[in-house]
Formats: sequence, C-alpha cells, structure tokens
Amino acid sequence: PKGNLYVPRRSVHLMRALIPSHTDPNIARHVSPAEGLKLEEVDVPQVREDKVLVRVRAIAINRADILQRKGLYPPPPGVTQIPGLECAGEIAKIGPSCKRGFKEGDSVMAILPGGGYADYCVVDESNLIHIPSKFSFEEAAAIPEVWITAFQLLYWIVKAQANEYVLIHAGASGVGLAAIQLASKCLNGHVIATAGSQRKLEACIHFGAKQAFNYKEQDLSVSDNVRNVAIDGVHVILDCVGASMWNENVKSLREDGRWVLYGTLGGAKLRECNLATLLGKRLSFYTTTLRGRTREYKTNLVKDFEKKILPRLVDGTCVPVIDKVFDGVSNVAEAHAYVEANANIGKVVVKWTH
Ligand code: NAP
Repeated sequence: PKGNLYVPRRSVHLMRALIPSHTDPNIARHVSPAEGLKLEEVDVPQVREDKVLVRVRAIAINRADILQRKGLYPPPPGVTQIPGLECAGEIAKIGPSCKRGFKEGDSVMAILPGGGYADYCVVDESNLIHIPSKFSFEEAAAIPEVWITAFQLLYWIVKAQANEYVLIHAGASGVGLAAIQLASKCLNGHVIATAGSQRKLEACIHFGAKQAFNYKEQDLSVSDNVRNVAIDGVHVILDCVGASMWNENVKSLREDGRWVLYGTLGGAKLRECNLATLLGKRLSFYTTTLRGRTREYKTNLVKDFEKKILPRLVDGTCVPVIDKVFDGVSNVAEAHAYVEANANIGKVVVKWTH
C-alpha cells in the first residue's frame, strides 16, 4: 500500500461455530459436553460451483455429533471439523453453477457431511430440500438425517414389503420413530419395536408399532417376545445396537430374513459368533452409513426421499417427532448431555440464535 495507510486485513466474513475442543479420544472422552465444545470465530465458508450457503436457523443433535465431540468419529477426509449433520435455515448465497432454481431467502433443510453447528454452512445443491410451508425451522431440522436414514434402510437396503414383520431396535430414537412410521404407515408392514422404558414403549405403539418390548426386562428374551408375535420370526431387522443384540437378532429372524446394521450402541465386538446360525437360515446381513456416501448416492437418495416420503410428511401420514427444543447456541452442550442420557423420545433440536 502507498504511504503509511497499511491496515492489517481481517476477514469481515466471520461467523460463530461450535468446534470440538479436543480430537484425542483419550482426553475428549473424559471432558464434559460443555468443555468438549468451544465457540469460535471462523471464516464463513466459500460458496463455489453448485454449493449453497445456508444461514442456519435450527440444528438437530445426532449420536455421531456426540462421538465426534469425544474424538471417536472424526469427519471424513475433506470435511470441516465443525460437527452437525443436518440443519434448517435460509439460503444466503447461491453458487455460480447451481441449476435447481433455489433463490436467496428460500427456506431449506439439508443433510450435511458436517458443519451444521455454525451461523452458516455450505451444502451441495443436490442435498437441499425446500421446507414445506407447514413446518417451522425447528420441525424441519428434525427431518433430514433420521427420515432419510430410515428411508434408506427400509426402501433401499432391506426393501421391506407390505405385510412383512419388521423388528426395530431403539424404537423411540430419532431414526426408530421415523422407521416405525414408514414401515407401518407407508409400507403397511407389522412393526415390533424394542426400547428401554415404559414411556418409550408407549411412544413406539403410538406411532405405529404393533407390539413393543423392553429389552432391559429379563422375564422373556427379546427373541421369545418377538416370536410370540411373529411365530416364524421377522422378515427384517433394523439394528443400531450391534453386539449386545446379536444372538437375539439371529433367533428373531425367519429363514431368508434381512438384517441391516447401522449403529453399534450396544457394542461393536462380538465375543462369539457362530456363522452357521446365519447360514442355516440363509440370512442376509447388510451394513450402511450415510455420512460417507458418495455425492451421487446422496443426490439420488435425497431425490427419491423427496418424491416418495416428503409428501407423506406434508399430508400428515407421518410426523417428525420432536422431544425437546433447546434455545440458543449456548445450550448445545446441554442438548448433547440430554441425548447421551438416552432421555429423548424422537429428536432433540436446537434453535440457532444469531
Ligand atoms: P437417539 O435418538 O439418540 O436414540 C438412541 C437410543 O438408543 C437411546 O435413547 C436408547 O434408548 C437406545 N440405546 C442406547 N444404548 C443402547 C443399547 N446399548 N442397547 C439398546 N438400545 C440402546 O438415536 P438416533 O439419532 O436415532 O440414532 C440411532 C442410531 O443410529 C445411532 O447409533 C446412530 O449413530 C445411528 N445412525 C446411523 C446412521 C447411518 O447412516 N448408519 C444414520 C443416523 C443414525 P433406550 O432408552 O430405548 O435404550
């Protein structure tokens, strides 16, 4: 610069974001949610090509965010360190090669590979969904991750059919209540759910399960309870529990049953596994994740979800289930603690205040 008028450059495009304070799991696992998330000022992300900048108005908490805060689930390569797998908000800026006709100011919701815990986040245009006018930002934030996951599990992976028996573990979880509604109301299946408290069992029944059992009660095993309802066993299992439910799952399935593992809340390591028990019934075992999927896969999944399921949320056949809305960025840690305590029935949302 000429003369002595040099002014150090500081980006005027700064925003607040919540970022895990530790990445080493040996430290991160032992600090409280409040210590584990720090509010920082960072650059607003760049909007390139077919990306869209969204001004975040509400986010929802996912188990993956909690694992990431604890250093146990680092973001995939190239993805921001800011957690947050879904958001609802308004479009602030549109990339130069966007083609879908979104406009600045449009209300949208989206699945994200990360980055939702911030004033602004960038989203692939193909992962955006217009928020139907009946939903608030808080309701919309409760939709993308769990409804698209439940849709993927039932429609794309196990391809559940009408009149099939579907066993859904963690039935009162965010994914669980979405899956119960999809399987019972959209696919006309018979849902059997498991959950850990009477209140949660009632929620499973309320949203469409034919029967719901407390997996913590020892009177009857899960598989005995299941077979009292589905005598030959279930056709399909949606399993986010893993190791602790392994044997009960094998016993609960009928011949040619399909079983998808999409989480490991009950542990990832099996002490013993007799593969002959799977082979004997010709079981199909699938696993799936959403976050790390290719762009093309997510584009097609979101498009199919918009076509097949969004209208059922709009016409009220299905509803997003929200347990609690926390108010403001300063309450995200409290929202984490609430979810970690398994207190929620359905989704936990945070209204993102600017
Ligand atoms: P959520 O709302 O936080 O609910 C999880 C519930 O699981 C808890 O409230 C608890 O309810 C139950 N649970 C916890 N530990 C358990 C155990 N050891 N055995 C049996 N049940 C247990 O969960 P969410 O957000 O819907 O997510 C559910 C699972 O799906 C998580 O593991 C998450 O990481 C996974 N997920 C996977 C994908 C994917 O693409 N693969 C996408 C989204 C979510 P109870 O009181 O009934 O025990």
